[in-house]
Amino acid sequence: MVSDSLTPSPLNPAQRAVLDELGATPAERPEFDPDEIDDLRAGLINQLEPLAPALDDDGLFINKRTLNQVFGCEVRFVHEHGSRDFEWSIPMARGSVSHKAIELSLSWRGEPNPLDLVEEALGRLSEQDRSIGGFLQTLNEADEAELRAEANDRVAKFLEMWPPLERRWSPVVETPMYHDLLEGRITLQARPDLTIGRARGVRAGKVIIDLKSGRPHAEHAGDLRFYALVDTLRIGVPPRLIASYYLDGARFSSETVTLGTLASAFARVIDGVRRIVELTVESDPASHRTGPACRFCPLADSCEPGLAWLADADDWMG
Ligand code: SF4
Repeated sequence: MVSDSLTPSPLNPAQRAVLDELGATPAERPEFDPDEIDDLRAGLINQLEPLAPALDDDGLFINKRTLNQVFGCEVRFVHEHGSRDFEWSIPMARGSVSHKAIELSLSWRGEPNPLDLVEEALGRLSEQDRSIGGFLQTLNEADEAELRAEANDRVAKFLEMWPPLERRWSPVVETPMYHDLLEGRITLQARPDLTIGRARGVRAGKVIIDLKSGRPHAEHAGDLRFYALVDTLRIGVPPRLIASYYLDGARFSSETVTLGTLASAFARVIDGVRRIVELTVESDPASHRTGPACRFCPLADSCEPGLAWLADADDWMG
């Protein structure tokens, strides 16, 4: 008799919905003209080149966080820009731990238990030399328990709502991507949570996915379009689909990648780099943008607009 742990479970409706969303027939996988991708790259270089002399020798690294920050509160962006002090927090570590656990699940024997995966992920990341290792080693028992519980929640939802990722789909978790422009003066960096599939010739085949807690936010589409642009510049073929998957609601927000998608990301990168140069090199006055992010801002204790917004928000909440 075959043991239950070795018998593949039938897919539940949520898992089938994921397959339906991500699957595509050959006819649904578009081909892209390499000349158009070359034109995209050349256009990006042409527009960024005049800004390059203003950049310091270390170059400028652009990732989704940089863009969201410069299009968010500029005062906070200027305060944090150039700082090498990256501070880990439990919400940030939760993503890394759960992604590591999902990565382990890809080659785990039998049906993986979410908490076992999280324990293993925590142990492996704690041993790493990277800064997350140092952060995890300093956690007290209560914080570690909180992190374990939150990561377990994400991993359990993922395993419940996603079909087992088959090797033939080439799934990759948290893969780093970058593309240097202007001989490394500007580097575009991305690290999507999950990619599935790959391009064949000039035919698109990859799906890029970010796994999200909480509810949809306008920033998420911009993040994914940026990932699509970086992947296109490095490989020469765009991904087929970009998607946010909201674990709490078991729902997708996805977009088929077109040249228009890439043009939108292109424009956002140009606007972002231009504004970064204006703020950090040309000392253009930075503007405040109040909002929920003020709660986690290092300037919140001394920022008048931020304090006023927080007081109003607290009054409204009662
Ligand atoms: S508290 Fe809010 S408005 Fe003030 S700097 Fe921080 S994010 Fe900007």
